Amino acid sequence: MSEKPLTGGSSTRRPFLAGNWKMFKTGDQAVAFVKEFVPLVGNLSDRDVALAVPATALQGVAEAAKGSGVIVGAQNLHWEKEGAFTGEISADMIVGAGATMVLIGHSERRQFFGDTDGWVSKKLAAAVSAGLLAVVCVGETLAEREAGKTFEVLASQLKGSMAGFVPKDEKRLILAYEPVWAIGTGKTATKEEAQETQAFIRKELSALGLPGQSLRILYGGSVKPDNAGALMAQPDIDGLLVGGASLKADSFAKIVNFG
Ligand code: PEP
Repeated sequence: MSEKPLTGGSSTRRPFLAGNWKMFKTGDQAVAFVKEFVPLVGNLSDRDVALAVPATALQGVAEAAKGSGVIVGAQNLHWEKEGAFTGEISADMIVGAGATMVLIGHSERRQFFGDTDGWVSKKLAAAVSAGLLAVVCVGETLAEREAGKTFEVLASQLKGSMAGFVPKDEKRLILAYEPVWAIGTGKTATKEEAQETQAFIRKELSALGLPGQSLRILYGGSVKPDNAGALMAQPDIDGLLVGGASLKADSFAKIVNFG
């Protein structure tokens, strides 16, 4: 892959395929993945490929991926530049490790570590001001979907998470719709459900004064090589955020090579 400009929104909404390794892989395992993976996805100039890796693997993966075009990112950050925040990492530390992207507000952060929409908006501001590409995640729980509250929940998450974000920074932002009930469960939203919800998110972003038509919106939730193509064929799905199926180089490469 050739080096591509780092960009969130774009008029063409080029496909963006991102892996999220969660708390898997040591530094050595992460570097071994990159060495196996890069040759499998070489020469793709029409899509972006990214890996969100554990903090301990950031530097090694960034070095191993150099020159490949693969975007390397962290899975979380703290909004302060530095301070007494044991266990946290800042935007500058991510940049210093050679990475250019960060996930913000993943549902596992929201569910297990108390991330709120207010925190997401502060993290987004910190990421943008450090020059990182931020992938902000939103999504409803099963109970919320079954209660018919999906759109209400997403509207509220978007309003809170985007508070303070300004349209001029659109190149630093990507959204990811990840229904919580589809993450790591083997249950994927149908392509119609995903499309309907992503179209709603795009409309909501525009209603918030953001460039909804040019921002890229990813789908995440039990994406596998055999459903990636059908999801990517939906008009409002611009990319995929992939957990479990991104842990093996051959399966993530099949997803990246969709179509
Ligand atoms: C994720 O981690 O963002 C995710 C969507 O996980 P999985 O693909 O395993 O459902």
